[in-house]
Amino acid sequence: MTTLSPEPISIAIIGGGISGLLLAHALLTRSSFITITVYESATQFGEIGAGVGFEPHFVRIMNHISPKIREGFLRCCSNNGPETDPPKWFDVRIGDCTRADAEGVVHHRKDGRKVRLSEPLFVVPARKGERGGVHRAHFLDELVKLLPQDICQFRKRLVDVAEAADGSGDAVLHFADGTTAQHTAVIGCDGIKSRTRELVLGKKAARPVFSGKYAYRGLIPMHKAVEILGEEQPRTSQMYCGHKGHVLTFPIANGTVMNGMICTVVAFSSKDEWKEAEWVVKTSREDMLADYATWTPTVQAIMIHMKDPDIWALYDHLPARTFFQSRPRICLLGDAAHATTPHQGAGAGMCVEDCYILSELLAAVSSADGLEEAFRAYDEVRRPRSLKLVETSREAGMLWEMEGSHGNDMDAYERNACSRMNWIWDHDIDADLERARSLLRE
Ligand SMILES: Cc1cc2nc3c(=O)[nH]c(=O)nc-3n(C[C@H](O)[C@H](O)[C@H](O)COP(=O)(O)OP(=O)(O)OC[C@H]3O[C@@H](n4cnc5c(N)ncnc54)[C@H](O)[C@@H]3O)c2cc1C
Repeated sequence: MTTLSPEPISIAIIGGGISGLLLAHALLTRSSFITITVYESATQFGEIGAGVGFEPHFVRIMNHISPKIREGFLRCCSNNGPETDPPKWFDVRIGDCTRADAEGVVHHRKDGRKVRLSEPLFVVPARKGERGGVHRAHFLDELVKLLPQDICQFRKRLVDVAEAADGSGDAVLHFADGTTAQHTAVIGCDGIKSRTRELVLGKKAARPVFSGKYAYRGLIPMHKAVEILGEEQPRTSQMYCGHKGHVLTFPIANGTVMNGMICTVVAFSSKDEWKEAEWVVKTSREDMLADYATWTPTVQAIMIHMKDPDIWALYDHLPARTFFQSRPRICLLGDAAHATTPHQGAGAGMCVEDCYILSELLAAVSSADGLEEAFRAYDEVRRPRSLKLVETSREAGMLWEMEGSHGNDMDAYERNACSRMNWIWDHDIDADLERARSLLRE
């Protein structure tokens, strides 16, 4: 008697950003039963040059996915300068003069000590372990190296997905160039402006929402940052807070660590509406400085020396009612599922968590029918946590910009700032995986 071997599962990953490439590698290393094709709308993999930070919790999950991902991360990681003991996430200072009294005091401590503008107010502690910032393009290069070239197709903008007419339940993908492709399932890793999200949730529910915040992003050569801030500050992460604005500086490696370091600046501001069609626009130095007219000379000097600053409008997603659909099979992952503002620095970290859970579940599936159950288990475990990040990240934006519920109570401000990342960084992802597996078994 001959046994028929099951039909292999073919997965189309839409989008070759951090999520798409991590997932492709995760699936390739876990299952020989699943074939993968990555469809990317751009002509090549690439990222706008900007930094992204990963805390130890997320680096550990990179290692769970595959030690090669962690190694690639460490190769391009700045390690955020010399590690302090205990490690620091950010030194927080007040940089907005309107928050100080006539003597420049921003906080009277209970012990009688006065904290002035630009002086350290408190430190938000980080967790011990490998952590740091990477230039996105460099991290993406490391991920590309892990994939066989023939699984990636470029200039393939997904426009539609229909159910196959052959009764298989497969997805037929339609691309902007007029071509089509048939796969068992589609995983949408196509970012905040996701087409797959529109297909699963409908146009209205999929639409990104302006968060009321925008950010100037640019770089300062390290020697200039040292002139402005002194030897030590630019080599660790700094946050200057004020009313409706906050400014972050942190080091990232310039190409390789051998080429030296540059200091990244992200300066946030607020407005009610974003009227431009584009989300990343050029700005004039005058407009940028006008936003920080009431801030300290140090903050203004940082802004003056930013090279080629862009403005990024910060959008996020409304909570999705589901991350998947059954016919045709589509599942959302990363920013396509839960794009967030960056105020807790964990959006890409959530992509890493998604990839870990989904790839483990898919590796346990042995037929097309099992895919839906894997998507359901992923949805149940991942949706509450990732949507909580979107919500609390907006709150963090209000906190850093002194619009939070603490009012003028700086002790409450500090307590909130120093504890709000615990649920993100101290999470037991393997307990989630165990729960997802048992949902799949059920
Ligand atoms: C200012 C800022 C700072 C941030 N800082 C941090 C940080 O410090 N730490 C952190 O963890 N996170 C951070 N994030 C969040 C992080 O950048 C994102 O969560 C992450 O990059 C999302 O990756 P992704 O692959 O899901 O989506 P994307 O990076 O958006 O990738 C989507 C890919 O899909 C492709 N694509 C889109 N549509 C189609 C289509 N129709 N067909 C085919 N291909 C398509 C795109 O070309 C792109 O390559 C920050 C975000 C911002 C905006």
